[in-house]
Order: sequence, then structure tokens, then C-alpha cells
Amino acid sequence: MATDSSALAICSGSAAGCWEASADRAAFRFRNAHGGHGPPCSRPVLTCDTPVRKGAGVTPDLPPPSDADVVVLGAGAAGLMCAITAGGRGRRVLVLDHANKVGKKILMSGGGRCNFTNTGTTPENFLSANPHFCKSALARYTPADFIAMVERHRIAWHEKELGQLFCNDSSKQIVRMLLEEAAAVGADVRTHCSIDAIERPDEGRFRLHTRLGTIECESLVVATGGLSIPSMGATGFGYELARKFGHALLPTRAGLVPLTLSGKHLDRLQDLSGVAFEVEARCNGASFRNSLLLTHRGVSGPAILQISSFWQPGDELRLDLLPGHDLPGWLGAQQRDRPAAELRTVLGDVLPRRFAQRLCEAWLPSRPMRQYTPTQLRQVADLLGAWPLVASGTEGYRTAEVTLGGVDTAGLSSSTMMSRHVPGLYFIGEVVDVTGWLGGYNFQWAWASGHAAGLVA
Ligand SMILES: Cc1cc2nc3c(=O)[nH]c(=O)nc-3n(C[C@H](O)[C@H](O)[C@H](O)COP(=O)(O)OP(=O)(O)OC[C@H]3O[C@@H](n4cnc5c(N)ncnc54)[C@H](O)[C@@H]3O)c2cc1C
Repeated sequence: MATDSSALAICSGSAAGCWEASADRAAFRFRNAHGGHGPPCSRPVLTCDTPVRKGAGVTPDLPPPSDADVVVLGAGAAGLMCAITAGGRGRRVLVLDHANKVGKKILMSGGGRCNFTNTGTTPENFLSANPHFCKSALARYTPADFIAMVERHRIAWHEKELGQLFCNDSSKQIVRMLLEEAAAVGADVRTHCSIDAIERPDEGRFRLHTRLGTIECESLVVATGGLSIPSMGATGFGYELARKFGHALLPTRAGLVPLTLSGKHLDRLQDLSGVAFEVEARCNGASFRNSLLLTHRGVSGPAILQISSFWQPGDELRLDLLPGHDLPGWLGAQQRDRPAAELRTVLGDVLPRRFAQRLCEAWLPSRPMRQYTPTQLRQVADLLGAWPLVASGTEGYRTAEVTLGGVDTAGLSSSTMMSRHVPGLYFIGEVVDVTGWLGGYNFQWAWASGHAAGLVA
């Protein structure tokens, strides 16, 4: 793994300042990406499934560019889309990434099949201090635009549920597609490239001191993503850079992340790890109906990942354990039809049996249905419909899919993603305080914000 921002040594905090990191000892090797796929490319790029060997040295016939119109920091979803768009306008684009291969999060996404967009994307599917900020970019690059690119590359896809589109085969196809598109417009994509320092010696140009040497550019696009999965190359680089150039940052925290339980709450459920069922999770006015999965540390599954983005320690979190049921009516019917059946047996018919059993041991006294008074039956219904889940925390960035918060959108143009403080500086993708729900929305934001910046950078 290349260097990360923990080694930063800041030497100036002004918008025209300089920003430093320790040098990365890794080197470069490139190979031509075409291999018969897609349009011909005139420049070498990396293939997604062929990691470059560390320490192999810079390929001799590839002198490091000293100048580019646009430098994009981060060869992830947003950075590559920005490079494709800017390159398509005839801009000379250089994409730099410190990792050993591009698009690592794309590769690991969607269980290896990349949930690359959501056909139902609306601004309401995003969390941000300014819920209007994402509207312009999302309107100008839609799921249909990305699907058109996917189809041009003959990548087979399917809808899983709720508008979520996945590759039939592999996420690698999406990375390969982006690299082919980037190559077709002449964008130069480099990995193993850490950034040691960034200066803005005069208005209008940036000077980057990198492992490739010193590079000057007119436009600098920051697409370094969020903090989740540090083992995949995530760093706080983009946040630090934003701060140094005078941008406000909103507090960051892990989103789309499993929740942890502790004490008696964990003791009661831990041995049920692996049990899954449908719930409706509710917190702070948000609700999501989907699967819950009990884990050895707490709870996960789509319903929990979704609601985790709305939850903070101390917040009340409730689960409807039988969503879609008219609980008082259903329990009343069970009492009438099965008076001798115990509550745990009745619940075991609609919930996983072991969970129903545990529920009745720890939260609901189980006895024959006929013995419940109307008031008690109402209390059972109330508990089943709004079961309190006492989470102690989240699994954190180690397993989170996204980072909430980040670069405050107040400092950015919503149509171009350009900094309001530093002309020519752009922030796109997850580093910005725009975070999507689970289900392909985060990639759609990456494509859309990358496209918006690429149109002007
Ligand atoms: C396990 C997992 C599964 C996911 N599945 C989905 C999904 O199916 N659908 C969906 O919509 N979203 C999914 N997401 C979220 C999605 O991957 C991100 O929101 C998206 O990748 C953000 O794009 P980005 O380009 O802003 O950042 P990233 O894709 O994270 O790219 C940032 C790039 O910047 C590089 N970088 C970081 N620091 C530096 C530095 N200091 N110097 C140089 N380069 C640097 C990184 O190496 C990386 O290549 C998933 C996330 C995870 C972790």
C-alpha cells in the first residue's frame, strides 16, 4: 500500500499555499489495456485485473508528464468519470492514484457485481447538510446515461430489486469500461503515485510534487473518496487538502455500516448470528423495510445498513419485526383461532423460530394465547411493531460502505463542483458532503459529480 495522509506535513494553510506528504517508496509499471476490448487507445493504461507490480520502476518509454490541463487525484468512480468527460472535451488529463490498482471500491462493490446505479435515483436518496446541492449534477447525468455507457460496452446487467442495477458477471467489467473510455479520450491514468506537496504559486495554476515528478496543471480535481475501508487505500487526503485551501469540513462518520450491540443486548442475540428476517427499521424520521441479519457483533443486513446512516449513538432506533402486518388484528385472530398455542409458537410461524423463542425469553412472556387480556395483547402488538434496538455503536470505517459528511457543499458550485474559494479546484464524489442510500446511489453520485466537473475543468 502506498502512503496515506497520516504522514502529511502541512507547510501552509492558505489557498495559495503548499501541502506536503511523505514520499511513497512504490514505483510504477504500465501495460497497454486494450486486449481487444472497446475502442482503440493511444496511451497505456492499467487494466483493472492486472495489478502492477510494486517496485518495478517507471516504464522507460513513458516519460512523466510535467504538464496537464487537468489533474484528477483519485482513480475511483468519480475521478475516472471526470477524466473521461474532461478528456472528451479535448483536455489533457492526468489521473493520479496512490493505490496499486484503480477502482478498488468498484471492484469490491455489490458483492463483486457492482450495483452501478439505481434507476429510481432522486435527490431524496441522499444525505447532505444541503439537500439541494446534488440536484443539478444528478439531473445532468442520469442513471440512463450510465446505462447507455454500460450497454455500449456490451456489459450484461440485471435489476436485483428496487431499481438496483448490477453486472451479471463482474465489477471488473465496469472498471475495464471506465479505463477503456479514459484511454479513448487520451486520459493518462497512473497508479502507485502519491502526492508529496501541492502548491498554487500563482493564481490560475497548481504545482504538484509527486512520485512522477513535478506536474503543473490548470485544473485540479480532488476525487480521493471517503474514509471507509482504509485497507483499500482510503485516506483523509481530500479532506485535509480541502481544509488547507480554506474549505469548511462537516464532521465525518461511517455510514451504511453494521451496528454493534454490547452487554446484555449482545448476550441475548449473539448466538443467533446468521439469522435473518425482514424488518422495518426506523430512526430520526427515516424508515427502511428490508432484511436484518444478526451477526456475532450486532446487527447488519440492508435495513440496518440503510438506517445506520441516520443513527448516531444515543438515538432511538426501533424495528417493526413484522412489517406489513396489522399486528393487533393478526394477534386477535391468532387468539381466536389458536387459543391453546403459546405466543412463541405463533411468532415462530412468521419469524425465524430461534429468534421468536429468544424474543419470548427476553422481552415477551410467552403463554397460551387465550391467557392474554386485550391490554396485554395490545402491548405485545406494540412491542412487535416498535421493538427497541439498543445499539452501542457501529463497526466503523473498517466495514462501512461510505463516509457521511466531508467537504461542505457551501464552498462548492453545485453545477460545476468548483471551489468558491480557489478557482480551478474541484471536489467530486464521496469526499463531498453528499452520501447516498444503499442501492447504487453512491456510484450514481460519483458518476454525476465527476461528469459535472469534467464538463468545465
Ligand atoms: C464494500 C463496499 C461496497 C460498495 N458497494 C457499492 C455499490 O454496490 N453501489 C454503490 O453505489 N456504492 C457502493 N459503495 C460505495 C462506493 O464504492 C463509493 O461511494 C464510491 O466508490 C465513491 O467514489 P469516489 O470516486 O468518490 O471514491 P473512491 O471510489 O473511494 O476512489 C477514491 C480513489 O482515491 C484514491 N486515493 C485516496 N487517497 C489518495 C491519496 N492520498 N493519493 C492518491 N490517491 C488517493 C483511492 O486509492 C481511490 O482509488 C461501496 C463501498 C464499499 C466500501
